[in-house]
Amino acid sequence: MRILMVNVPFSGHVNPTLLLARKLVERGHSVSYILTNQWKEKIEETGAAFIPYHNAANYEIVFKNGKPRNFLCALKAWKYVYNTILKVGYKFDLLIYEFFSFTAFSAAQKLNIKTVRLFSTFAVSRENIGSILISKNKEINLLKNKFMLRVVTKLVCGKIPLVTPNILTEITDVSPDLNIVFTTKEFQKDSNSFNGKYHFVGPLIGIRVSDLIIPFDQMGKTIIYVSLGTLQNQNLAFYRKCMEAFKNKSGVSVVMSVGKNTDIAKLGNIPSNFYIYPFVPQLEVLQKSTLFITHGGMNSVNEGLFYGNALMVIPLDMDQFAVANRVAEMRIGVILEMDKVTSDLLCSQADDILADSEIMKNVKKMSDLLNLCDGGNKAVDLIEQIQSTAF
Ligand code: UDP
Repeated sequence: MRILMVNVPFSGHVNPTLLLARKLVERGHSVSYILTNQWKEKIEETGAAFIPYHNAANYEIVFKNGKPRNFLCALKAWKYVYNTILKVGYKFDLLIYEFFSFTAFSAAQKLNIKTVRLFSTFAVSRENIGSILISKNKEINLLKNKFMLRVVTKLVCGKIPLVTPNILTEITDVSPDLNIVFTTKEFQKDSNSFNGKYHFVGPLIGIRVSDLIIPFDQMGKTIIYVSLGTLQNQNLAFYRKCMEAFKNKSGVSVVMSVGKNTDIAKLGNIPSNFYIYPFVPQLEVLQKSTLFITHGGMNSVNEGLFYGNALMVIPLDMDQFAVANRVAEMRIGVILEMDKVTSDLLCSQADDILADSEIMKNVKKMSDLLNLCDGGNKAVDLIEQIQSTAF
């Protein structure tokens, strides 16, 4: 099958789809992937061919502490997605797009190609979109105003023939016959409200190679892993509170990933039971740790649970609040608010979670479930099936 994949250039949306590209290639399909130039190498590593956004040689979204510096420029990606598909799509049998690149659907309709939609986070519907895309970002919050929603839709989609009135309904109301969600039915909020077109295959967790050697053999019996992800991770005050909370705590070691833009020297004296890095091979760390203090990115939470970590979630933006709520509802961890975090709270919550046999039992159950998912192969099976059905 000749498959075209397309996405917006945000790592949370792209990362889980790379393993899918690799799996499709391994099954003998010819895969091409449309994205910005920064993703070229990562896409080619999967065995897929890279196609840059059409007429966008210098298009790059500049991030400032996790947020696009120019919001409207970031949304331009939707036009590039549409135009590039129109340019190259006729060569393909199937188009796979991540839900945030919704203009892909209109382009595919124009070319009469079948589509598959991926969700890198929870599946989104009219009912749950308000609780999933919670943002502290003022531009995103503007979309709650109907007039502004119309203006932004016009501004960023221009002449693209959307199927519905605006960019939000385009996400919630337009669904191809196959939607693949990279979480489990158990974790998805209100999973029963989604019809048979939605398949919850579980996370796609790949293999990652790293040269960093972390001295786990020197560490205590309990390892706590701290990471705020790759975007909003410049938070010296928070890292200092973690150091204060767990410094020299008997039997406990802490691995902390603080991000490539955080100056570790500014953290001051590092306690001897702390191992602090700009970036770690997270999957390797999570295999050794018991408790994961995380911002609640869907990828991190999936990975933490996959390797049997209880979670202390401190959500910062977007779907992280919904993920955190689900973690608390399912009793596989707890939520803390960043504004209210103190070193005492971190310490007492960690003690409580680790001593809570119900949480630890639920985490083990979830981990067993995730380890049985085989999400990558399931996703490829579904894609192969849909392609063999009539259009
Ligand atoms: N990650 C990693 N090492 C680090 C920090 C993060 O490998 O030191 C990876 C992590 O495994 C996950 C991704 O970066 O796959 C972060 O994605 P997530 O959705 O959790 O958060 P985001 O960075 O998009 O906010």
